[in-house]
Amino acid sequence: MKLRNKINLYTSFLFAVLLILINSTIYFSFHQLIFDGELNTAKKEIEKTTRDFSDSIGIIPEDDLLRSYVPISGMIQIVSEKNQVTTAVTSPTEQASIQRKDLFYQQEISRLMVYQKKSYIFESMPIILPDGTIANLQIIKGIQTATDNLKILRYVMLAVTMIAFIPVILSSKFLSNLITQPILSMIHTMQEIRVKGRFKRIPLEGHSNDELFKMGETFNHMMDLLEVNYQKQTEFVSNASHELKTPLTIIESYASLLKRRGFSDPDLLLESIEAILSEAIQMKEMTEQLLLLAKQSEQWSVQKEKIQLSALVEQTVHSFKSAYDLNIECRQDHESPLFVETDEKKLKQLMFIFLDNARKYSDQRLTVITGMEKEKVFIKMIDRGIGIPKEDLPKVFDRFYRVDKARSRKQGGSGLGLSLAKEIADAIDVHILLVSEEGIGTTVTLVI
Ligand code: ATP
Ligand code: MG
Repeated sequence: MKLRNKINLYTSFLFAVLLILINSTIYFSFHQLIFDGELNTAKKEIEKTTRDFSDSIGIIPEDDLLRSYVPISGMIQIVSEKNQVTTAVTSPTEQASIQRKDLFYQQEISRLMVYQKKSYIFESMPIILPDGTIANLQIIKGIQTATDNLKILRYVMLAVTMIAFIPVILSSKFLSNLITQPILSMIHTMQEIRVKGRFKRIPLEGHSNDELFKMGETFNHMMDLLEVNYQKQTEFVSNASHELKTPLTIIESYASLLKRRGFSDPDLLLESIEAILSEAIQMKEMTEQLLLLAKQSEQWSVQKEKIQLSALVEQTVHSFKSAYDLNIECRQDHESPLFVETDEKKLKQLMFIFLDNARKYSDQRLTVITGMEKEKVFIKMIDRGIGIPKEDLPKVFDRFYRVDKARSRKQGGSGLGLSLAKEIADAIDVHILLVSEEGIGTTVTLVI
């Protein structure tokens, strides 16, 4: 069954049950109240009648006396101890309908009874006749007005129930529409995405705080993320295959050169092997970086611990210095030793990426400074090299982006270093500040 029909059915059913329950409670309470009232009045009446009757019997003939006490629609009679009616008077309206039962009761009786689908109250009261014998004064009284009123009440309640159903059905329709509309639109959008293979958003009007609006918003947000990821992925795959094409072409052309003339020309042999080796190393490095970049940030498995910053920086600079035989000045801008909570390996990796760039794009002395500013610990790496043009600054963190393609390729760069640095920095909560001026140099600040 469709959600819309389920909502309609459940709300209508629930309301119907509620309405019937309320109306029947009201009806039966009234029913009880009215009949109790009638019985009470009848009881008081027979008590009074009995008193008056006892006072006048013997003075006024029984027949006349009964006639003066007969109810408008009903009868009055005297039943002897031997279950015989001695005197009885019936009102003209009830002569056809009331069937008399002549039964003597020892005690006072008052109850409801039905004769030929009409309701009556039966009252019986013991009395002492002038001759000293005991008899019953019995009154049967029609309560048609009360039953008629109850009948009207029944009809009114039935009509009210029917009328109340109209707004219930309308509101349940409105409610089901309200709930199912965004869901239907979401299903429609999803189907379109499946069929056309394009990322689509659900149209959302205005702003609301309800769950359905939130669901739509979340869906759209998810689509945004998926689209960005999808774009990144296709871009990445095309970039990667493009970047791998160059070293592979170089290797291929040197290999075919070797095949043709390599055995006869020792210089060419050496050159080719060197070129193939250097391209192979670069490709290996690039694939390693690509693999790291392909990892999701959750898979970085960050292991933070408390470390002394200057010791770590000095150690990193020292190993870098000996690997490349460089002139690096290491300085501390603070007196007391600085401790930070970070992932040592990843911070080192981050420094290596920036020091490698400083090395590649400058020939002069490099400076590394550690210090603290505004309660934040920082590492500054300064080079006095070619710098980065202003318009390229925002792009250097993009994958495969290189300012001078020919030059950085010669230096073995693939343009992945800074994008990897950004991912690592995000994983260990380090903020990167890159300030550079063409021809003057570059300063990288890592704020931990
Ligand atoms: P890789 O680091 O992958 O080996 P790469 O160094 O070319 O290659 P990135 O480290 O991402 O790539 O740097 C991107 C580009 O930014 C570089 O190609 C270079 O043009 C420029 N760049 C980065 N650091 C500096 C720097 N310190 N001085 C001048 N230019 C820089
Ligand atoms: Mg680099």
